[in-house]
Amino acid sequence: MKKADAVIIGFGKGGKTLAGALAGAGKSVIMIEKSEEMYGGTCINVACIPTKSLIHSAALSAAAGGEFSDKAARYAEAIDKKNLLTSTLRNKNYHKLADHPGITVLTGTASFTGPHSVNVETADGTVLVEGGQIFINTGARPFVPPIPGLKESRYFYLSETMMELRELPRRLVIIGGGYIGMEFASMYANFGSEVTVIQDGEAFLPREDREIAQAVLSSLNSRGIRVLLSVQVEKVEDQDDQAVVTLKTPDGSLELTADAVLAATGRRPNVSGLNPEAAGVELTSRGAVLTDAQLKTSVPHIWAMGDVAGGLQFTYISLDDFRIVKSQLLGDGSRTTQNRGAVPYSVFLDPPFSRVGLTEQEALEQGFHVGVGRLQVAAIPKALVLNNTTGLLKAVIDLDTGRILGAHLFCEESHEMINLVKLAIDAGLPYTLLRDSIYTHPTMSEAFNELLTNIVPSRV
Ligand SMILES: Cc1cc2nc3c(=O)[nH]c(=O)nc-3n(C[C@H](O)[C@H](O)[C@H](O)COP(=O)(O)OP(=O)(O)OC[C@H]3O[C@@H](n4cnc5c(N)ncnc54)[C@H](O)[C@@H]3O)c2cc1C
Repeated sequence: MKKADAVIIGFGKGGKTLAGALAGAGKSVIMIEKSEEMYGGTCINVACIPTKSLIHSAALSAAAGGEFSDKAARYAEAIDKKNLLTSTLRNKNYHKLADHPGITVLTGTASFTGPHSVNVETADGTVLVEGGQIFINTGARPFVPPIPGLKESRYFYLSETMMELRELPRRLVIIGGGYIGMEFASMYANFGSEVTVIQDGEAFLPREDREIAQAVLSSLNSRGIRVLLSVQVEKVEDQDDQAVVTLKTPDGSLELTADAVLAATGRRPNVSGLNPEAAGVELTSRGAVLTDAQLKTSVPHIWAMGDVAGGLQFTYISLDDFRIVKSQLLGDGSRTTQNRGAVPYSVFLDPPFSRVGLTEQEALEQGFHVGVGRLQVAAIPKALVLNNTTGLLKAVIDLDTGRILGAHLFCEESHEMINLVKLAIDAGLPYTLLRDSIYTHPTMSEAFNELLTNIVPSRV
């Protein structure tokens, strides 16, 4: 049996950062991670970092052009490069915790046996672990839709297995038009695959500003990416050396052939095998660990952080969850999920799309006196320098207070620019401050000068 002040289940962003902080404060910590391929968690091994490495390589490959065989060779090299990067990070992450005298890393699957106890199934047998405080950071797992033949198909992939494939698929069918599906669509199109995205809903990126969603869709289409809306997948069948995907469309049945079928249909909080009931930890109706605004579960000495807590699925939210827990354990307890401020996000398309705050429609529905600024990317000198004038920028302003309510940026470097707007929103700065600020030149952020100059009342 092993005991520690703090037991952390899952080597995710929040958990590993908390392990370091608690050990630094003199606490004994046990970190339990089920797979030696996952030290450091989802982000560095199978999600943010490998996708962004591949997206970067894909853009370079698209610029280089050539025959399909040249593209396929560059793709295989990109996978190797990505593997080297993730294994280096995994190793660093492991040693950062394992080499700390206050931290024990146990490799095995954790399952609660009581409010303070967890069984860990390791390669060498079961280890019973007891903790004064326990932190659940087990992430999310992919949801695979129950489509006949999908799971059985030799050509079926999830985001993580797709990135292991060293052979560039000539034809890729992506089921799911969400953010991960769109990143893969953009990336594989740049690598040289013929990409079709299938979405059952009728609106493309339904939660986004409609003008921006249309601009993104037009850009994807102009790059040869086919997006089929209002379409359901009826079945997937392997035939000779390809998959046949049968679709139900508003115009009847349609068959697509593919060398790879990627299911990008969402990720659900991961409590599989964790047995939270044994500790009295309650779940929400959607299967996430139920927490309060301080991320405490229904058991006072157990917390949940990251994707498993059912919030927005981003690495930086897991990191912010760490800050919330740390604020209770080592600080003044003031941080909660209610005072994170505005949460930005980016979808790493080519160019990336980034958003923070409200859409024009949402702002109107909430009763604001809405003003809107728009700017075509072709007007930005740095976009010309970068040779990518695709895109649209949109700002949503409260005309009564001058505060920024939202920004929707579909342009090169938007993933950097959006963090500036988050800061302005959180600080309650008037939009005129961003409008009249000095920016270095030529940069994409100087576009705020012009974007915020012509604010017109909303006409929606
Ligand atoms: C393809 C893809 C791309 C993404 N890109 C981005 C991006 O660009 N930016 C961004 O911010 N977010 C991105 N995300 C989301 C981001 O990866 C997740 O939100 C984040 O990694 C969640 O971290 P976490 O702390 O919740 O836990 P995770 O990092 O998921 O860690 C959970 C860990 O718990 C382990 N575990 C699970 N169950 C047990 C158990 N019973 N016992 C022991 N160990 C267990 C798992 O093996 C895993 O290592 C992406 C996701 C995907 C799938």
